[in-house]
Amino acid sequence: MQEKSIGFIPINKPIVGEEEKRAVEQVLESGYLTDASYSGGKWVREFEEKLKRLLQVRHVLAVNSGTSALFTSLSALGIKEGDEVILPSFTFVSTANVIIALHAKPVFVDIKEDYNVDPAKIKKAVSRKTKAIIPVHLYGYPADLDEIQEIARSHSAAVVEDASESIGAAYRGRQTGSTSEFGCFSLYATKVITSGEGGAIATNDDDLAEKVRLIRNHGMVHGYDSRLLGYNHRMPELLAAIASVQMEKLERFMRARNKNAQYLTERLGGLRGVRFTQNSTDRTHCFYLYTLHLEKGREQLLISLNERGIGAAVYFKTPVHRTPLYEELGYSKVDLPRSDDASQHVISLPVHPALTEPDLERVAKEFAREVSRLF
Ligand SMILES: *Cc1c(COP(=O)(O)O)cnc(C)c1O
Repeated sequence: MQEKSIGFIPINKPIVGEEEKRAVEQVLESGYLTDASYSGGKWVREFEEKLKRLLQVRHVLAVNSGTSALFTSLSALGIKEGDEVILPSFTFVSTANVIIALHAKPVFVDIKEDYNVDPAKIKKAVSRKTKAIIPVHLYGYPADLDEIQEIARSHSAAVVEDASESIGAAYRGRQTGSTSEFGCFSLYATKVITSGEGGAIATNDDDLAEKVRLIRNHGMVHGYDSRLLGYNHRMPELLAAIASVQMEKLERFMRARNKNAQYLTERLGGLRGVRFTQNSTDRTHCFYLYTLHLEKGREQLLISLNERGIGAAVYFKTPVHRTPLYEELGYSKVDLPRSDDASQHVISLPVHPALTEPDLERVAKEFAREVSRLF
């Protein structure tokens, strides 16, 4: 962890205020800190309704993390030993771990210049064993959903979107996470909106929604009547109250992120040795992270920016298949040159809504100066 000093500009921070405080107080006063009923509590249902409205889907189910959202979705699809699930390696380890947890096999494929999974590589990896494909909308930038959904359809595989980083982002006018078998969201502390920990699952399929509802809560309908293998993946009322307030702020947060990102692209996008690659006009970035590709000197730049109080960061320094755990599982021989390249060349800069104009100015100035020393 980076030591925080006065004037340090973090890469992300939760933005909560009086409204969240009041909502939490109401829950505390109600005495219902959580609700283990089939439908969930009042605050959980309120949060679900708001996300449902944004996504324009039939069902949203709140859970207690993005990881739970992914795990519950794959469980509902019946993913099991012998099944294969295709995913990128250039993601957070959670995307792959849920596959291992269900005794299925992660099949890692490479990414494109925009850091999202490459449909051409999915086509080569897909087989009769493929039960699901998990595109990750990395940094909040939508993956090639039309192509991916088409491949999945022709192989009777499901698409589970890892939209943990992309709430509010849109692909060809459709919200990420809203048009596949499942869309999975995270409300972890640093994400675009947050409840500290939390997650949500979106689907348009009534049967899958019912399975998710059961798996989230021990497979029970009336209580102590488990009908299938479930867990406790419930979102507590205390956190749902925060999530519900945050939903009201999403649009404002996104506008600020977009404005900050635009400013950085204008100032930095044209620098020698620097590229911004998530810029297709048919999709709307939510700018969870603003990430540049640096031709060389990334490590040095990271250190000097951090020393100068700029919370630049790297997501992800190690692709999943190169982590010790996955190397031990036998994945070190998988050849993913673009994922390796990205892990060595990307750098993310702060664009969150809490940045002041002078903050943003400082980020741009320090970055430009340090980069000019490298080239
Ligand atoms: C944050 C994140 C997750 C996991 O979410 P948690 O809420 O922390 O469990 C999964 N995938 C990606 C790409 C993420 O960024």
